[in-house]
Amino acid sequence: PLDKEQCQGLKAIRDFLKVRTSYDVLPLSFRLIVLDTDLLIKKTLNILIQNSIVSAPLWDSQRGRFAGILTATDYINVIQYYYQFPDEISKLDQFRLSSLRDIEKAIGSIPIETVSVHPSRPLYEACRRMLKTRARRIPLVDADEETGRETVVSVITQYRILKFIAVNNEHHTVMLKKTVREIGLGTYSRLATVHMENTVLDAIHMMVDKNISCIPIVDSDNRVLNAFEAVDVIPCIRGGAYEELDGTVGEALCKRPDDSPGIYTCSEEDRLDSLFDTIRKSRVHRLIVIDDENKLKGIISLSDILKYVLLHGEEDSQPRH
Ligand code: ADP
Repeated sequence: PLDKEQCQGLKAIRDFLKVRTSYDVLPLSFRLIVLDTDLLIKKTLNILIQNSIVSAPLWDSQRGRFAGILTATDYINVIQYYYQFPDEISKLDQFRLSSLRDIEKAIGSIPIETVSVHPSRPLYEACRRMLKTRARRIPLVDADEETGRETVVSVITQYRILKFIAVNNEHHTVMLKKTVREIGLGTYSRLATVHMENTVLDAIHMMVDKNISCIPIVDSDNRVLNAFEAVDVIPCIRGGAYEELDGTVGEALCKRPDDSPGIYTCSEEDRLDSLFDTIRKSRVHRLIVIDDENKLKGIISLSDILKYVLLHGEEDSQPRH
């Protein structure tokens, strides 16, 4: 019966996503900061920090086109470039946002495909596309009625989608009574972790190696103290200070804005519906799974949750009788 209820809940949420569009997710009024690709990369750090944002769509004004999304990953690529080609530090200062693709190529990183969706397409489509490309955010691109030119309406993130589900589907999320352990949600083996004394550079290398956006910080008993996130890199290199990355992870945390929310934890016994409660109430980017003694057990990313909600049981969803 638990199984049946869970499946009904999942189906109801998927049906909901099929009849809603990306437009529906957007708040009534919002601001959107778009960066011109002619800007110096160094200068963009301050723009992000001053506006309390961690990413922005890019606009190629020469060609009048949308040019992808700037995220923390781009800065991490620049850092890697610096460490691979230390002689080119002077050149680094001159790089513009339009050079990001060349930097990606030079360090051999596989670019995240820039997909966009039309805002009036079903939200379900945006979600599927997000999961397929590993993009954590998707730009909503529309055409201007008069000029026919592309316009970026907004950007939707995994968090926004999950929050939209949580807020509008409380009667369906309560049906998701299986525990994190029962549905095997998240990652529990070969977890990448750091200590407070490790350097920011250590953490960055781990994130690049494993293609992840967050590293739990633990003490010598594996107790969770905090987490280092890809976006934490931004204040560390403010002003183009790429040399200062041998500071410790502990020091880097002090550079966070005062209002940063910290980490959210859960246990393997928690049910999926309680995870949705957390998403409904707080700006969660991931959940760190701990045991009774605060020791690290696993990590549940928003993509893990989105994947489960959208894809679980899809392959064998045909009736068996
Ligand atoms: P997202 O794609 O939501 O930003 P991540 O990039 O952090 O999330 O996670 C991608 C995948 O890697 C997820 O399946 C997640 O469970 C796993 N993962 C996240 N952080 C770690 C970590 N520190 N060690 C091992 N696996 C991780």
